[in-house]
Amino acid sequence: MEKSDLRNELDKLKAISLAVIKEAGSTAELEKARVELLGRKSELALRLKGLGKLPADKRPEAGAELNAVREAVTSALDDKLSAIREKELNEKLENELFDITLPGRETGMGHGHPVVSVMDELIGIFTGLGFQVVEGPEVETDEYNFKMLNFPDDHPARDMQDTFYVQNGARLLRTHTSPVQIHAMQNIKPPFAVIAPGRVFRLDSDVTHSPVFNQLEGFYVDRDVNFGHLKGTLELFVHRLYGEDTKLRFRPSFFPFTEPSAELDISCVLCGAKGCRLCKGTGWMEILGAGMIDPNVFTSVGLNPEEWTGFAFGFGIERIAMLKYGIDDIRLLYENDPRFLRQF
Ligand SMILES: [Zn+2]
Repeated sequence: MEKSDLRNELDKLKAISLAVIKEAGSTAELEKARVELLGRKSELALRLKGLGKLPADKRPEAGAELNAVREAVTSALDDKLSAIREKELNEKLENELFDITLPGRETGMGHGHPVVSVMDELIGIFTGLGFQVVEGPEVETDEYNFKMLNFPDDHPARDMQDTFYVQNGARLLRTHTSPVQIHAMQNIKPPFAVIAPGRVFRLDSDVTHSPVFNQLEGFYVDRDVNFGHLKGTLELFVHRLYGEDTKLRFRPSFFPFTEPSAELDISCVLCGAKGCRLCKGTGWMEILGAGMIDPNVFTSVGLNPEEWTGFAFGFGIERIAMLKYGIDDIRLLYENDPRFLRQF
């Protein structure tokens, strides 16, 4: 075979190959062309394979010619691949145009549940007065929930609360946060001022009662504590929560664990004591129960009632939240309806 014949054939092969590459319009088509032109069964591969059959003196030149064609084809394939990729990217960018002037979709910011917000505010007020926060178990014994708080077995005061009993009556869900008083008096050396916020449970459910609700209990144990200290503390608390103009009124009441006991009314936050639907025309609203810690409670935890005195108070967080936000159904606080919760 003449040298010029081989050169002619290879020139033709190269021209055809470059034409095939030029025709390819996508990366898939180009990949197909690569296999066709450079693959094991391509003409180029077969010719390279056949080099060994050529006479020894012809091989170097023929090899160089074939390699030159392969390099030209490979380089054309690479160039074409870059060009196709760029074209495809540009097309994609053009087709996926988006309107940057459209307002963004806002991600909803979470915020405190009204009960949690009020709880935080109350804790802030009392810790500001020097009270420390103590928590206790939600599952209690009769001993802590009733007996040590001066509820004797047959005391009618037990009927005041309907209790969830568990473990066949061996345990109960605490009906108030007052058992924390007992735990605190057993564990902290007086004098101390403690608030105990937390969930409590009662068999009760209507527009103003929920079977689970939150209470905040506060108590102060020291020597020579009198009712004036209680009154002053609650006055400060009410004024910080509802404003300096709020009036307070104590009414005698009864709780087994305090003696004397009182209920605290405040002037209506809505009408300012003129009388409205919220205060049922009285101008006053009951917000909490309080009193001086009964000597029997001190005795039950091993503190000498001749030496130690104290006051205690407790109220429902939900009631405070309902008054604050004008919510008239306690159950709304527990349905977790975002349309309701978003209003606060
Ligand atoms: Zn009113």
